[in-house]
Amino acid sequence: MADNSRKPTTTDAGIPVTSDEHSLTIGPDGPIALHDHYLIEQMANFNRERIPERQPHAKGGGAFGHFEVTEDVSQYTKAAVFQPGTKTDVLLRFSSVAGERGSPDTWRDPRGFAVKFYTTEGNFDMVGNNTPIFFVRDPMKFQHFIRSQKRRADVNLRDHDMQWDFWSLSPETAHQVTWLMGDRGIPRTWRHMNGYSSHTYMWVNADGERFWVKYHFKTDQGIECLTQEEADQLAGKDSDFHTRDLYEAIKAGDYPSWTLYMQIMPFDEADDYRFNPFDLTKVWPHGDYPLVKVGKLTLNRNPTDYHTEIEQAAFEPNNMVPGTGVSPDKMLLARVFSYADAHRARLGVNYKQIPVNSPKAPVHAYSKEGAMRMQNVTDPVYAPNSKGGPAADPERYPKDETWSASGKMVHKAYTLHKDDDDFGQANTLVNKVMDDAARERLVSNVVGHLKDGVTEPVLERAFEYWRNIDEDIGKRIEKGVRG
Ligand code: NDP
Repeated sequence: MADNSRKPTTTDAGIPVTSDEHSLTIGPDGPIALHDHYLIEQMANFNRERIPERQPHAKGGGAFGHFEVTEDVSQYTKAAVFQPGTKTDVLLRFSSVAGERGSPDTWRDPRGFAVKFYTTEGNFDMVGNNTPIFFVRDPMKFQHFIRSQKRRADVNLRDHDMQWDFWSLSPETAHQVTWLMGDRGIPRTWRHMNGYSSHTYMWVNADGERFWVKYHFKTDQGIECLTQEEADQLAGKDSDFHTRDLYEAIKAGDYPSWTLYMQIMPFDEADDYRFNPFDLTKVWPHGDYPLVKVGKLTLNRNPTDYHTEIEQAAFEPNNMVPGTGVSPDKMLLARVFSYADAHRARLGVNYKQIPVNSPKAPVHAYSKEGAMRMQNVTDPVYAPNSKGGPAADPERYPKDETWSASGKMVHKAYTLHKDDDDFGQANTLVNKVMDDAARERLVSNVVGHLKDGVTEPVLERAFEYWRNIDEDIGKRIEKGVRG
């Protein structure tokens, strides 16, 4: 009996089909006819469902919501998205870094915290992490760092020996490794962790005054973490634990939110600040630059199609609106190239026309053609022109987000500031932030990690690395491993 309340199945061209169950055959037992184009379309589509996964940050989830400015920070930035009372639609994607798309959510790893603000001045992306720092400070080492976290060439297994080999030969990783091996290295859920820009960015106000800034999205749910044992159990029992938690919380109307605070450094203070303020392995202690409240980000809508809205989402630190800009942080400057390049490779050159990546602000661009182009281009297709096409307006949109630089071209590390070294802030984290119980968990986590396949001489270097962070912690770790 036909059920007229249901929509008829169609082909991708909208043509009603005869059967969801049976292919077209020569008699019920005969061979399949090649002109069963609906069957062919189904099989061909299925074979092409997967797109390359992200390298790294492959496993993740996300949701939509809004960001509302509750305070007045207009003295620091002219960006429309940060003006008092402004409410902007956002997309937030959470992720882990090293694992593949099917990997457990609860592996010890930093978490991505990538926000796309659909502002009236174009898309603004803040592509952060749940940690205020990172493992390396020069993009030359980034690819090598990620490879050391992924899989060996021979057995295709992850390998702690490879990880500690890289870390112990790269002392600038000490702060982030201490953070990762501590409680916050495994958040209970994505809702119970902070998001940080980690990088230093620039803000510019309406008078052209410049500030160096760091973004801190503090969870309103409170920080909660998993112990190593809890995480290991969950990895086996429910490898999508974080994905499920976010979806179910939003579905139940329990909307998670984060309060945005900024650290703000007047432009001229960077030169003499005690830490190099652009070094991604360092925080600016809160005592030096206290948090300034800006507004609240709330997630209240789940995606309806994970693939089109989350898997195809493309976040890129180069998406900066007037009043926001980059800083001399070398990692950030490299990401400004590499993210957009990754999206071109993964999604195709016209990835910004996928609806989730399309700005809500009007686009008057001169890009044209390329695979999967959706938007029509109108003449004139070149600039400058006298035919009424878009024209850049330096009066309305001056490039204020700049700084001066000079010197011979070199391959060199950052200039050291007064208190700069690789281990000092890691020591502060161990001794001033963690309590005895947290230090005990840190030692236990590192011992467990090192006992899992790390061999000499990497092992000895790992003990020295920890002794450099803190003599006592180093000794306890060595004792825990060597017995
Ligand atoms: P504060 O005492 O002002 O801040 C310490 C911060 O450490 C807290 O505000 C909290 O960050 C964070 N924190 C608390 N417990 C842990 C933990 N188990 N693992 C990691 N972070 C934790 O001191 P300072 O600003 O002088 O910073 C001291 C150290 O704290 C730094 O060397 C750094 O390792 C760490 N830290 C500093 C941050 C900063 O931006 N200044 C941010 C995060 C960590 P939050 O309030 O963001 O939750």
